[in-house]
Amino acid sequence: MKAVQVIGYEKAIYTDVPVPVPEADELLVRVRRVGVCHSDVAVFRQELGVYRTGGASLPIIPGHEWAGEVVEVGAQVEGFEVGERVTGECGMGCERCSLCQQGLHNICPDRVETGVFSRDGAYAEYMCVPYQHAHHLYDLSFQEGALVEPATVGIWIARRATIGSGSRVAVFGTGAVGLMATQMAKTFGADLVVAVGRQPFKLNLAKDMGADKVINLREQPLMDAINEAADGEGFNVVIEASGAPEVLTMALRAAAPRALVVVTGVFEGELQTIDLNTIMPKELTVIGSLGGPTVFDEAIDMVRQGEIRVMPLNTHTFPLSMGPEALTLVAQGRPDLVKIHLDCTVD
Ligand SMILES: [Zn+2]
Ligand SMILES: [Zn+2]
Repeated sequence: MKAVQVIGYEKAIYTDVPVPVPEADELLVRVRRVGVCHSDVAVFRQELGVYRTGGASLPIIPGHEWAGEVVEVGAQVEGFEVGERVTGECGMGCERCSLCQQGLHNICPDRVETGVFSRDGAYAEYMCVPYQHAHHLYDLSFQEGALVEPATVGIWIARRATIGSGSRVAVFGTGAVGLMATQMAKTFGADLVVAVGRQPFKLNLAKDMGADKVINLREQPLMDAINEAADGEGFNVVIEASGAPEVLTMALRAAAPRALVVVTGVFEGELQTIDLNTIMPKELTVIGSLGGPTVFDEAIDMVRQGEIRVMPLNTHTFPLSMGPEALTLVAQGRPDLVKIHLDCTVD
């Protein structure tokens, strides 16, 4: 089958590899679509800690935001049939530790992450997925299905931040995660959601996804804009979804006393510029949010019911053969690019 493999620093190839053989508890899936994520770029550059410490190795087929159809089921698989549309979770835990027992495979110390480390992903014609981590897409299109994983990330952020009535939320970053967090904050009932970014195209998209106000950092000094947007009341939830250290510093500055700051970005390189002296004097709470392990069916339901919109995020679609170029494009960033999909149907 055709697949894209990361083989070195910023090196990916479109190549032929054997079709994987499913284990007894696995589905073999014909992948139809996969999203290109900043986490894939972190794999492309081996920037994740697990690559730096030697806990993960190359080559790997990236891709954890995917949709496809079941073409084969292992002997122990329950609840899935050939021909059904599915997607799957990225993080897969040991299933024995106390975190896994609570469904938190995303932070199991012994986990693998599909397409990120220790398990091949979806930049391929076929992939295997344990049925325990697969989810039915029902009548969703493959395009919508490949946007379910990013939606789970947004739901998880909203849950981690206990967003609801009374929440006054600032979202820093207008990539797929920031836009999804913006939309979820509104959907979960926040009183005020303000998106902060630099690209007019993406800030408009943030408005379209439900932001009450947007701040373009190129046009206004941050604190003036923050005070104006929050009507002097400040933000009690601040979401950092950019992965830029200087933006985390801004997010900490924008937070009101006792606010919750949610860190979701993958930061590149060594961090040097975070102003830690903003945390103590305001008694901030800083938390992380990774993936969305237990909310896949909820996300699928929300898309099916029309409670959230995912399609506007998919700004570009390329054939699978252009996977290496797509990784380079996402690594470089472009003002009009939110989410590239690879169409994995190879003629
Ligand atoms: Zn992703
Ligand atoms: Zn575990």
